[in-house]
Amino acid sequence: MVIERINFLKDEINKANYLYYVQDNPSISDFEYDKMFAELKELESQNPLLITPDSPTQRVGSVSEKFFPYKHKHRLYSLDNTYEYDDLKDWYNKIVKEYGNQELVCELKIDGLAIALTYENGIFVRGVTRGDGITGEDITNNLKTVKAIPLKLFEPIDIEVRGEIYMPKSSFEKLNEENLQNGEKLFANPRNAAAGSIRQLDSTITAKRDLSMFCYTAILSERAQNLPKNHYDSIMYLKKLGFKINPNIQLCKNADDAVKYCKIWDEKRFDLDYATDGVVIKVNNFLVQQEMGFTSRAPKWATAFKFPPEEVTTTLIGIEESVGKTGAITPVAILEPVQLGGSTVSRASMHNYDEVGRLDVRIGDRVYIKKAAEIIPQVVKVVDDNEHFNRKPYLPPEFCPSCGSKLTTHPKEVNLYCDNPDCPEKIRAKIEYWVSKDAMDIDKVGPSIIEQLYNKGFVRTPSDLYKLTMQDFMQLDLVKEKSAYNMYTSIQNSKHNPLSRLLTAFTIKNVGKETAGVLAGEYGTLENLMNANAEELSEIEGIGEIIAQDLYEFFRKDENIRMIEELKSLGVEPAPPAENISDEFKGKTFVLTGTLQNFTRDEASEIIKKMGGKTSSSVSKNTSFVLAGENAGSKLDKAEKLGVIILSENDFIKMTEGRI
Ligand code: NAD
Repeated sequence: MVIERINFLKDEINKANYLYYVQDNPSISDFEYDKMFAELKELESQNPLLITPDSPTQRVGSVSEKFFPYKHKHRLYSLDNTYEYDDLKDWYNKIVKEYGNQELVCELKIDGLAIALTYENGIFVRGVTRGDGITGEDITNNLKTVKAIPLKLFEPIDIEVRGEIYMPKSSFEKLNEENLQNGEKLFANPRNAAAGSIRQLDSTITAKRDLSMFCYTAILSERAQNLPKNHYDSIMYLKKLGFKINPNIQLCKNADDAVKYCKIWDEKRFDLDYATDGVVIKVNNFLVQQEMGFTSRAPKWATAFKFPPEEVTTTLIGIEESVGKTGAITPVAILEPVQLGGSTVSRASMHNYDEVGRLDVRIGDRVYIKKAAEIIPQVVKVVDDNEHFNRKPYLPPEFCPSCGSKLTTHPKEVNLYCDNPDCPEKIRAKIEYWVSKDAMDIDKVGPSIIEQLYNKGFVRTPSDLYKLTMQDFMQLDLVKEKSAYNMYTSIQNSKHNPLSRLLTAFTIKNVGKETAGVLAGEYGTLENLMNANAEELSEIEGIGEIIAQDLYEFFRKDENIRMIEELKSLGVEPAPPAENISDEFKGKTFVLTGTLQNFTRDEASEIIKKMGGKTSSSVSKNTSFVLAGENAGSKLDKAEKLGVIILSENDFIKMTEGRI
């Protein structure tokens, strides 16, 4: 029995290893893989005689034959991992017993591809993948296209540096979007996209992919002087040499501190523009590391705490058609409930019917789901199985599921649309968006209230919200005087919201929160914006011709003009723009990225505007400054590439303090 289970697990893990390491095309989630791996390890530890040298527990990764093999001078290891805090504490307590209290270093575990870089006299000479840890693939030429890898160091030394090649999440989404348009293969996650891109035989393809690298290990020649005595110092030394290191590295006094770090990043990881699947915890002291040594596949002085899974597989039990605020019909996957990223998921988006066709999902298939931008789950692909072709192919709907109108397509768009202005679902979605946090932020009126207001015939357009009286609210189920008052006042209070909120609430095609902010900053009043022509609009930084045309058309449509007139007559008048207090930033355009500690982004934008400057949502050669907070992502990389001046939050405070 045990031997059968062990053989089964070995086969399944080896199959998964091949698809993951060689094909960059995994068929199961990391969580499922890790579960099988942990079970195999446990069974082998109970039955040591059944451990064979070819067991995946005795090996690291694998090497493909795509590139020239290169034997590593120093072996590369994997890491033991756990999903449990208690295991992490046990690991630490064992170390303390033998070596006394130890300082730990916590680093984010970057979900990419491990690479070893060799420098001779400060010059980059070779870059090799981890492979099976003993032999890797020589991908030097491809690595030379990665801008974060210095070709020459600030000191002429010999050093081997290890780190993780990764693709920013935003670039991964963009690449998949392009691949989707071109009918090419989609990558399951940023890790596979990075691995697939760096292991291209044609380095001009690699050069086109947005790849970066964080370095996390330095191996210095023993002859080097002033060798760092601990891991943390060695990372700071790498930074000094010109390598990109992850800024979120932290020294911890003990395991409790490390657990705190893991908990913080389990939440904050979703704000990062790169994927991290956990935290690596390392003993800081090099002497203790040396004494502890390695198992057959991992160091004993380090361990990985893995975050709960972001990708899992489950069964597709149905496809629902949902009508959005623009009338676009979105296919929603109805799933057998499954745990994903800390919540139970039973629905996932499939974008549009082109995507459903491309995925060829059929009801009954097992599908691979993940959290996109870490919030909305989406179906990534179908798990290969022979039954798939016996299931009925899914056909897109022809009629609106809400009002029964014939669905249409719009030029240059992949979505199916319900164009009926009276479609109940569309109206409800539009009003829900109007009250949402990003738009008018009418927080006391939620979806169930909107549903009731619609069913009673009280609202058909967003402007109807402003006609509601307290008595209207009190006719709704379970609404008493106090909550009726709160709903009424939260609507009334939104009447003088800033123009950017009103523009967001209008649901103009391609105009989200950020673009609305740019437009409000540029034009100040709705009248000015409505009078602008498309050419003038397209000249605004971050707007472009398509958005300009969409805006121009929106403000020329009778129904929109009527809606704006009606809102005005009901007293919806955006607050006047803030007066410029100085013109020190006149002619300067700022792009904000990352998380600021002392301001919200809106507050920082307000300061820039008061000092006569502008903000834009995208970096270009016309950007004057990029204000980069913590965990700044691709905008920062782009600014670096274009040579745009990058300001830290402190620089910004110095430039603005006492001026307004
Ligand atoms: P791993 O990815 O769990 O951990 C080791 C790796 O972590 C190192 O090689 C290094 O590349 C990386 N790393 C990232 N940040 C680091 C940092 N700050 N310091 C040190 N190392 C850092 O181990 P692995 O051996 O590369 O792969 C095994 C894992 O890969 C499995 O646990 C599983 O999650 C996944 N996997 C999945 C499948 C699948 O089919 N889904 C198949 C094989 C492997």
